[in-house]
Amino acid sequence: MKRHFVNPFKAPGNWYKGNVHAHTTMSDGTRTPETLVDIYREAGYDFLSVTDHSVVADTGGLESPGFLLVPGEEICVGRSHAGTLYHIVALGVEETLPFTDFDRELDPQRVVDHINEVGGIPILAHPYWSGLNHRDMMALERYHGVEIYNTSCEYERNTGVSASHIDGVIVAGRRPWIYATDDHHGADRPNLPLDACGAWISVKSKDLTVESIMESIRRGLFYSSTGPEIKSIGIDGDGVIGVECSPVKTISFISTPSLGMKFYAEDTPLTHASYPGRSGETYVRVEITDYDGRTAWSNPIYNAV
Ligand SMILES: [Zn+2]
Ligand SMILES: [Zn+2]
Repeated sequence: MKRHFVNPFKAPGNWYKGNVHAHTTMSDGTRTPETLVDIYREAGYDFLSVTDHSVVADTGGLESPGFLLVPGEEICVGRSHAGTLYHIVALGVEETLPFTDFDRELDPQRVVDHINEVGGIPILAHPYWSGLNHRDMMALERYHGVEIYNTSCEYERNTGVSASHIDGVIVAGRRPWIYATDDHHGADRPNLPLDACGAWISVKSKDLTVESIMESIRRGLFYSSTGPEIKSIGIDGDGVIGVECSPVKTISFISTPSLGMKFYAEDTPLTHASYPGRSGETYVRVEITDYDGRTAWSNPIYNAV
């Protein structure tokens, strides 16, 4: 079986860990950009994008050796079938978007197209939390990716995982890249864990510059995680997919409808698995979950048609 996979594990470069969705006191977050940068830098992140509502926050002067700021913004527009708004992260935009946040009459396609035109990367944020359905996501085109996991939505509402939304559009022919982000707000509620440093993307890039990180993300040279590490994904001449990873409880090769395969650890944790695929599949993506319920997600591997 011939497969098509943009393989970050085989690409040259170094791994850089970053969060591409976060809010500060510049919009509805509780931490200043300075505090947020400290939190992520001290947690071992390499880069952060502050994506406040309605404004590309000025993060000049917050960079330090080994820690990069990627500009960004989030905007909420349009109207889903349920009447809710589309939330769109504009990663890498340098100027505040020329649209009004919370404009329900604005076609979200105009926002996505604008972000692409100015060299940014449009990401459809937290579709589960937003109340988007499959038709809403199919009505919009040319977005780069979709959040499969959003820490803030998960911690606050238990609606952070949008895996089935993504599989629904892939089955229907779309090829979105898959992102895990924090969407940090820092809401203060008793017993609510801080929604920072819970999810990230690991990007294979030649260096830690905005240009190189953006180029690698645009090409799909990354994977997402809330904990476990995917060490490699290889595809042999027969199309068998092999995965190596940090010790986990399950390794899943997800493909819909009704296909794919899930493997379970027995006496010892799993650190590898392989999967030849099944007839009728159009794609496979890898999900691994550790004993604490933390997950890592590969980008999709497509079967050649
Ligand atoms: Zn949002
Ligand atoms: Zn947000």
